Amino acid sequence: MANEKIPYKIYLSEEEMPKFWYNVRADMKVKPAPLVNPGTLQPMTAADLAPVFCDELIAQELDNDTRQVPIPEEIRGFYKMYRPSPLVRAYCLEEKLGTPAHIYYKFEGNNTSGSHKLNSAIAQAYYAKKQGLRGVTTETGAGQWGTALSMACAYLGLDCKVYMVKVSYEQKPFRREVMRTYGASVTPSPSMETAVGRKILAEHPGTTGSLGCAISEAVEVATSNPGYRYVLGSVLNQVLLHQSVIGLETKIALDKYGVVPDIIIGCAGGGSNLGGLISPFMGEKLRGERDYRIIAVEPASCPSFTRGKFAYDFCDTGMICPLAKMYTLGAGFIPSPNHAGGLRFHGMSPVLSQLYHDGYMEATSVEQTAVFEAAEFFARTEGILPAPESSHAIKVAIDEAKKCKETGEAKNIVFGLTGTGYFDLVAYEQYNNGTMTDRIPTDEELAVGLNALPPQPEF
Ligand SMILES: *Cc1c(COP(=O)(O)O)cnc(C)c1O
Repeated sequence: MANEKIPYKIYLSEEEMPKFWYNVRADMKVKPAPLVNPGTLQPMTAADLAPVFCDELIAQELDNDTRQVPIPEEIRGFYKMYRPSPLVRAYCLEEKLGTPAHIYYKFEGNNTSGSHKLNSAIAQAYYAKKQGLRGVTTETGAGQWGTALSMACAYLGLDCKVYMVKVSYEQKPFRREVMRTYGASVTPSPSMETAVGRKILAEHPGTTGSLGCAISEAVEVATSNPGYRYVLGSVLNQVLLHQSVIGLETKIALDKYGVVPDIIIGCAGGGSNLGGLISPFMGEKLRGERDYRIIAVEPASCPSFTRGKFAYDFCDTGMICPLAKMYTLGAGFIPSPNHAGGLRFHGMSPVLSQLYHDGYMEATSVEQTAVFEAAEFFARTEGILPAPESSHAIKVAIDEAKKCKETGEAKNIVFGLTGTGYFDLVAYEQYNNGTMTDRIPTDEELAVGLNALPPQPEF
């Protein structure tokens, strides 16, 4: 089939859809470092994690060895409502750029939540339901994760409590209403409902909140209400496992036409979409079967890979969560108000951090106005209004395609288009009005977070 004309969109039949998630940790010679208890500096056991997370998800989190994890039939059924997501051959973009490169993107924005986050939300809600829990709690910043989780919980009949960063709650009323339409309760954070929220409000009256603070509230509510657990939409190993469905579908689709990517590109906030997209390709690379160039793209305003340290750090600003070893800017780092809300996290997935540290992938950072320039070009060429987060990958894919134009190489470039930008039109408005700015932290500003890392474990 290798010479067959490749269609604009490569779909898979239901039968061809993945039946297993792929756990890339099984093929890593150096495993990601374990989560550590900040008090004892010892690795967290399943029993330590049980009050916070669902049992089956803890098992997945700690499992570095099982290569293939069966996707339960109920989850496959849900996936079939909005998957497979299309793998698009960007013929129009190639033509407009005049590049000999072949560009493909995996589009995850074709569901109501508008992003890839639903792939893990349904899995996490499913295991919570199976454990007989009443509900789950979580935090959300810009709202994509909260929306995805609300949809999954509505489908399974689980209660869903979302703590939404107050500034987003006020400025993004539309996402909030989508969540409420799916039955979630949405509380602006910090709130008076939790001890940690009351403490933060007493210390910082009038604060508009942060993701770290919302995590602390959601964890407190989960651990103090029987029948509730906390769930997280990125960073964790289990989330990368669920998101491997993106990469597996991509690989099955490309294999059908004998296409082998040269370069794979994704935006990286906590690392879940990129980790998912690259998983099966990285597996081949780790096993020495094939080589690929893999590029993580992050905002210059929150450059964890490119300017962070590889060290143990807290995942939350409240410093109540376990420590994870990752590329981090420090839990106290507060990025400037960049419009790619989903990329404003100080740390990075421990799996991707280890792979990057060991030289299996590259990372680069891009500035906001250049990202929106690429987003607009893409919207006008391919028709999709991309999320600001996804547009980081678009920017670098376009740059690589332009390089191919100079060298005359017909490289295969694959990138992850993680979502749509309908709820980000204030950002587009600023770009269109010419009032958008680029804010890059100085070394002195970064030093504040980097010099305040917690005590490091001995192992
Ligand atoms: C959350 C989000 C991201 C970033 O999260 P990762 O875990 O790094 O994938 C990227 N794109 C969109 C549309 C998102 O909602």
